[in-house]
Amino acid sequence: KKVVIAIDGPAGAGKSTVAKIISQKLNINYIDSGAMYRAITYKVLQKKIDITDENKIIEISRNSDIDFEDNNIYLDGKIVNEEIRDLSVSSLVSNIAQIKEVREVMVSLQRKMGEKYSVIMDGRDIGSYVFPNADYKFFLTASVKERAYRRYIELKSKGYEVTIDEIIKDIENRDKIDSQREFAPLIKADDAIEINTSGKSIDDVVSKILEYIK
Ligand code: C5P
Repeated sequence: KKVVIAIDGPAGAGKSTVAKIISQKLNINYIDSGAMYRAITYKVLQKKIDITDENKIIEISRNSDIDFEDNNIYLDGKIVNEEIRDLSVSSLVSNIAQIKEVREVMVSLQRKMGEKYSVIMDGRDIGSYVFPNADYKFFLTASVKERAYRRYIELKSKGYEVTIDEIIKDIENRDKIDSQREFAPLIKADDAIEINTSGKSIDDVVSKILEYIK
């Protein structure tokens, strides 16, 4: 049977780490919806588009080829896994993700993926908007401090030059824009299971989620 699992929550709550592990355990596709918004943002930066030029940004989102294969994200045929994690992308992505037309393009791609095959998809609006009828919905939270620290360790281990203060600022800035935007904001779906991951290990969170999925 085809299954759709939604994992939402604020930045750095551990969504992608947990979703990746569960996708392997259940042998289903993992889709990082945030990576799609990041890819568009990366392209906007590459093309040196004026970030107040919404029409141009909408046009770019409509004329980009975004795809996932083997946990790689492809933008116009090129793998951009690393480029999209840069802080220059992080600090702008929420501004671009609040443009309604950009979201419409991404949401339609996300829905197509969820219709084609079983997915575990992480994001901000997956359970509340993209897949309101998802089979399972989870909402992960943690304190800002803990989320920033985890993100710091992760980025450092991958060789990015960042400070903890920069990350706290980035997370707070994105959470604010993401939860206050007009169209499909960051919100826990009424029927989502909330898991506070503060002080919990990755394994703890994974097994907690798997308890619900039969
Ligand atoms: O998941 P990640 O932190 O990489 O997402 C980057 C940004 O993309 C978020 O801060 C948010 O602005 C946007 N996003 C979104 N809706 C999603 C996933 C991500 O608006 N479903």
